[in-house]
Amino acid sequence: MSVTPSSGTPGKPENHLKPGDEALAGTPGTGEDLCPDCSGSGKLRDGTECPTCEGSGRITQGIGGG
Ligand SMILES: [Zn+2]
Repeated sequence: MSVTPSSGTPGKPENHLKPGDEALAGTPGTGEDLCPDCSGSGKLRDGTECPTCEGSGRITQGIGGG
């Protein structure tokens, strides 16, 4: 799966989809979970900010459905 470059505006965490998000935070049927790429640390093994969760360590994903 390729990473889509984010064109969001910095400073606006609301209504901002991180690369690892499946939906906006608060979307019914979704929930916050640890980022699978950095295991919630927000940083990759080499110390750089995790692009998947943008350093938050958490992503929003759909609940259920397998
Ligand atoms: Zn991450």
